Amino acid sequence: TPEHQMSEEELLTRRNDAFATVQEHYYEEPPRIERGWRQYLVDTRARGYLDMLNNVTILGHGHPVLSDAVHRQWQRLNTNSRFHYASVVELSERLAQLLPAELDTVFLVNSGSEAVDLALRLAWATTGRQDVVAVEEAYHGWTYASDAVSTSVADNPGALESRPPWVHTVAAPNSYRGRHRGEEARNYGPEAAARIAALAAEGHAPAAFLCEPYYGNAGGMALPDGYLEQVYAATRAVGGLCIADEVQVGYGRLGTHFWGFEQQGVVPDVVTVAKAMGNGHPLGAVITRREIADAYRTQGYFFSSAGGSPVSSVVGLTVLDIMRDENLQANALEIGGYLKRRLVELGERHPLIGTVHGCGLYLGVEFVRDRMSLEPATEETAAICERLRELGVVMQPTSDRQCVLKIKPPLCLTRDSADVFVAALDDVLTYGW
Ligand code: PMP
Repeated sequence: TPEHQMSEEELLTRRNDAFATVQEHYYEEPPRIERGWRQYLVDTRARGYLDMLNNVTILGHGHPVLSDAVHRQWQRLNTNSRFHYASVVELSERLAQLLPAELDTVFLVNSGSEAVDLALRLAWATTGRQDVVAVEEAYHGWTYASDAVSTSVADNPGALESRPPWVHTVAAPNSYRGRHRGEEARNYGPEAAARIAALAAEGHAPAAFLCEPYYGNAGGMALPDGYLEQVYAATRAVGGLCIADEVQVGYGRLGTHFWGFEQQGVVPDVVTVAKAMGNGHPLGAVITRREIADAYRTQGYFFSSAGGSPVSSVVGLTVLDIMRDENLQANALEIGGYLKRRLVELGERHPLIGTVHGCGLYLGVEFVRDRMSLEPATEETAAICERLRELGVVMQPTSDRQCVLKIKPPLCLTRDSADVFVAALDDVLTYGW
C-alpha cells in the first residue's frame, strides 16, 4: 500500500516496529495528522481539530512567511556557524536585545535539553563546583545533565530517588497544593533559601539554582510572590548562578511579559530558550553574561554543527518578525485573559474544576475530586482528554498528578476558537466522559 493510503492502524504497527516505543504517542488510537493550519490540525480522514496543546508552534501551523523564508535560505546556503554570515549575528543581537543589558552573550543550540545542559556546564565552569539545586515536579530535558535535574514523577515514578548525588531538590513552589497553600505559599522561598545555605555549610555550595520562572510543568502556575528574589539572593550569597529555564514559558506566551522571570522582578545569570524560538524547527539558545560565557573555555571546546546555522538563524529571526508583525504577545494577553475568565466561570458550574492556573495563553485547568482534600482527578482528566479529542479538540494532561489540562495553544488563537474549546469542555463536564 502506498504510504498515503495506509490506515492509521497499519502505520501504528510500523511505528511500533521501527521507532523506539519509549518515544510515546498521544492517544491509544491516534488520528493520523499530516497537515496543520494556524490553530488547527487535520487528520487523513479530513477531520479538523482545534490544537490547544502545541506550545512549540507559537505562530500556528503552516505559517507561509516562515516556510518561504526557510525555503529561500535552503536554496541559498546552509552551513555551520564557524563560517561568517550575517543571520547568526543578527539573531544573537536580537535575542540579547530582548533581555536585560547584562545578558549580552548568546550560544545557539538545537533544543531545550541542549540549552539546559549547556547552562549547567557554564555554572560548573564558572564556579568550579558541581552541586545543583533544582525544584521538584520539574522537567528540563533528556540529556545526562538536563535529565539529572528533572524531578517530575509523572513519567518517572522513581525520579526523586534516582538523581545523581550532585542534584539537590527543594519543594515544588506550588501554591495550590503541597505543604504550603494560598497565603502560606510565601514560605516556599525562605525554605529553599535555608536549604541552599545549609548545603553551603555542609561543603556543598551549589554551582547553580535552576527552575522554570513560571511553573510550566506543574500546570502553568505563577511562583509565589518574591520566590525568585529570595532564592536567587540565597544562591548568589554562596557564589552560585541562577538559571531560568524559559524553554516552555518564555517568548511572549504569558502575554503580560515576554519572559517568565520578568513577572518575578529578577534578572537571572543564565537563561535557556528553545521550543517557541524555532516554532518547531530545532533551535535553542543560552543567553548569559560575557564572563560566564568565557568561563566555558576552561572546560574545553564548544561547537554545535547545526546550532546557529544559516537556516536556523533565519528561522529564529523570522519567528521574531512574525511575532512582532502579528502582535502575538498582545493576542496571548487578550485571548488568554478572555479564555481564563470563561474557564473560571465554568468552574462555578462544575465542581470537578478545582482551579484555573496561569496567565496569557499558558493556562491549566486542575481537576479535583474534592475541593477540600484536593484529591487529584487523574483518571477523569485522561478520559476528558479522550472525549475532547472525539469532539475535535487536542488536549493532554500535565503535572506530577496528571490532573491538569495543559492549555498552551498557538498564540494566534482567536476568540471564536477559545469559545469552541470552552463549549466542548462544558459539554464533556455536563454530559460525561
Ligand atoms: N525545559 C523545559 C521547561 C521543557 O518544558 C522542555 C521540553 N518539554 C525542555 C527543557 C527540553 O526541551 P527539548 O524537548 O527541546 O529538548
